[in-house]
Amino acid sequence: MRVPLIAGNWKMNTTVAEALELVKVMKGELEKVTGVETVVCPPFVSLAAVKELLEGSTIRLGAQNLFFEEKGAYTGEISPLMVADLCEYVIVGHSERRQHFHETGDIVNKKIMAALKAGLKPILCIGERLEENEAGKTEEVVAEQLSSSLAGVEDLDGLAIAYEPVWAIGTGKPAIGGQANGTIAFIRRNIARAYGGKIAQEMRILYGGSVSSANAAEFMQQPEIDGALVGGASLKANEFLSIVNQTSVIKHRK
Ligand code: PEP
Repeated sequence: MRVPLIAGNWKMNTTVAEALELVKVMKGELEKVTGVETVVCPPFVSLAAVKELLEGSTIRLGAQNLFFEEKGAYTGEISPLMVADLCEYVIVGHSERRQHFHETGDIVNKKIMAALKAGLKPILCIGERLEENEAGKTEEVVAEQLSSSLAGVEDLDGLAIAYEPVWAIGTGKPAIGGQANGTIAFIRRNIARAYGGKIAQEMRILYGGSVSSANAAEFMQQPEIDGALVGGASLKANEFLSIVNQTSVIKHRK
C-alpha cells in the first residue's frame, strides 16, 4: 500500500563534478527498479546541475536542509522557495544538524512548516541518543521530538518520517531490525492518535542508521519499515543500487 522510499543523504561529500559522476553511474540502473521511490540528496551547490541531469528521470531530488524564512538578510542560508525551485524533497531535523548546528525542536518545527508551505515533501528525522537508548527512554524521546516537530502542523501531506537512532548513524552499528520496527510502530501509533488512523497508515516511516547492502534486507523485511534514509552507503553506486533493488524485491514479494 505504501510505496517504499529510499533516500540517499550525501551529507557534505562530493564536488559538483563528483555529484554528476555519481548520478550518471547510478541513474540507468536505478531507473530500471520498479515499485520503489528513489531520492538523492546531494549538497546544495550540486542541486541545479543534478536536477538538469535527472530531467525526465524517475529518480527524485532532495535537499539536506533549508532555512525557515522565505527571503531576506540571512547570509548563507537557503530558503524554502529556493529549495522548492529545484527539489521535491528536503531532509529536516537530521541529528547532525541538531548536534553541530544546535537545531532545537522549535527550529525543526519552523522548518517543517516552511517546507510544507513551499510544497516540499519533508523527511523529518527523529531518534534517540545512545544514553537515552540505554536509559530506556527511546519512546519518550521520539514522542517528544514528534510532538515538538509537528506542533501546529495540520496537514502532513507528503511528509515522511525517518527514525534514525543517533548511535546508529555513521557508526557501522545499525539497530536490530525488529527493534527499529517496534519503534516505528510506536511512531505510527503516535501519528494515528494525533492525525487519525488513515493518515498514519498512509505515512511512510523509514529507518536510518548504518544501512548497507549487507543489512538492508533485515530492515526491509519489517512490516512497519517503509524504506531507508541512507548516508555513507548512498555514496557508493553499487551499495545504493543493491539497497534499492533488495527493497523492491522484498516489499513486492507476494
Ligand atoms: C544519515 O545520514 O541519515 C545516515 C543514516 O547515515 P549512515 O547511513 O551513514 O549511518
